[in-house]
Amino acid sequence: MTRETLVLGAGMVGTSIAYHLARRGRSVTLLDRRRPGEETSYGNAGIIQREAVKPYPFPRDLATLLRVLPNRQIDIRYRPRALLAAAGPLLQYWRQSTPARHAAVVPAYASLTVRCTEEHQALIAAAGAESLVCKQGWLDGFREQASLDAQVANAEAIGEAYGVTHEALDAAALKAHEPHLRGDAMLGAVHWTNGWTVRDPGALVKAYAAAFEAAGGRVERAEAKRLEQTARGWRLHTAAGVHEAEELVLATGPWSSRWLAELGYRVPLFPKRGYHMHYAMQDGARLNHWLRDADAGYLLAPMQAGVRLTTGAELNTLEAPPRHAQLDAAERVARELLPLGERRDAEPWMGSRPCVADMLPVIGSAPRHAGLWLAFGHGHQGFTLGPVTGRVLAEQMCGEPPAVDMSPFRLTRFAL
Ligand SMILES: Cc1cc2nc3c(=O)[nH]c(=O)nc-3n(C[C@H](O)[C@H](O)[C@H](O)COP(=O)(O)OP(=O)(O)OC[C@H]3O[C@@H](n4cnc5c(N)ncnc54)[C@H](O)[C@@H]3O)c2cc1C
Repeated sequence: MTRETLVLGAGMVGTSIAYHLARRGRSVTLLDRRRPGEETSYGNAGIIQREAVKPYPFPRDLATLLRVLPNRQIDIRYRPRALLAAAGPLLQYWRQSTPARHAAVVPAYASLTVRCTEEHQALIAAAGAESLVCKQGWLDGFREQASLDAQVANAEAIGEAYGVTHEALDAAALKAHEPHLRGDAMLGAVHWTNGWTVRDPGALVKAYAAAFEAAGGRVERAEAKRLEQTARGWRLHTAAGVHEAEELVLATGPWSSRWLAELGYRVPLFPKRGYHMHYAMQDGARLNHWLRDADAGYLLAPMQAGVRLTTGAELNTLEAPPRHAQLDAAERVARELLPLGERRDAEPWMGSRPCVADMLPVIGSAPRHAGLWLAFGHGHQGFTLGPVTGRVLAEQMCGEPPAVDMSPFRLTRFAL
């Protein structure tokens, strides 16, 4: 008999897991309170970040901390109350971000990132979603010569070690790539040439969910209320009824803390909020590539809905109401760089990167609960890492040797 499996959470991570399980002959239901890809996996910048072999550390240098402290920066803001609420995980994040500890997690993180494009490609092909994906890389632009030089040096180092390709662009070469850039504030860029970009990230998740359905899977919409372990596996109580399954996968992104707490696991997971807004362009001007204004701390993405500006991180709680000052500040700087037109959305979108203190996602079994599997905490790169996570978790669940060493991603690395 095929094994009944329930995947809770239809973001990029859960949808990719569901697809890989269905392909292995499992009877799979993918459940979400919304349709697939309508939360964090919708609102992101849409970059499949082949260059992201190093996770984001907590800034530890005094200059950055002093710069961030007045809480008026574009790249990082915080709410004091949220710092208190997540004090434990943030302190661990700070401790884990020393150069030596950060370097120690890079090989595990990179073991996933180096597979990101090939694993996305398998799903893109199955979903017939080529038209959503651009394979021309993206631009990391800099205003400070020192930061441009540092990124070029980093690109050369990770190129050799991890097969990341790049081209260093001076101001003239950048202008040739992006003729509508205004002024000369941007001194140059690193063009990450083997990263991919997606014109509508939510639509890509929906296409992957359709491929999952074509492989025999079922997508259901309901709010999960309560989990219960039974003699046969798991029972999930939802607003629309009850689901029974032998195995359950929790892929609830930034909402995973609630379930972990109920199950008695203390995991240092915290949200880093981001906002986005779409803009028209003035009088026929164009943005050809995804462009990060790295020294300012925001990103511009030429998506189907318009140019999407995504903000850096706001340390905030999941539930707190939006504060748009960070987006407004980024917009002012972006308008000096590019002839942006009117706002296209009635309200800015907001969502949260699900971050774990040691900068690695949790992927694997729940140590004290048979038949429960976990996949969350992909931080700044869950859109990139969904498909590879789907493959390696499905391999583990089905007793196949996983494509990467899974030990760094086990939940048991934390004192539970
Ligand atoms: C501004 C911004 C820019 C980003 N840019 C990039 C980028 O360019 N590249 C990249 O790789 N990553 C990027 N990220 C990060 C990336 O978006 C996330 O890491 C990723 O989307 C997380 O995917 P997920 O599937 O784990 O979570 P989600 O997409 O949030 O999915 C979790 C799902 O669980 C469901 N759920 C939760 N609780 C319940 C419940 N009780 N009942 C039913 N359903 C429930 C939710 O509805 C949701 O659909 C960015 C993030 C932000 C905020």
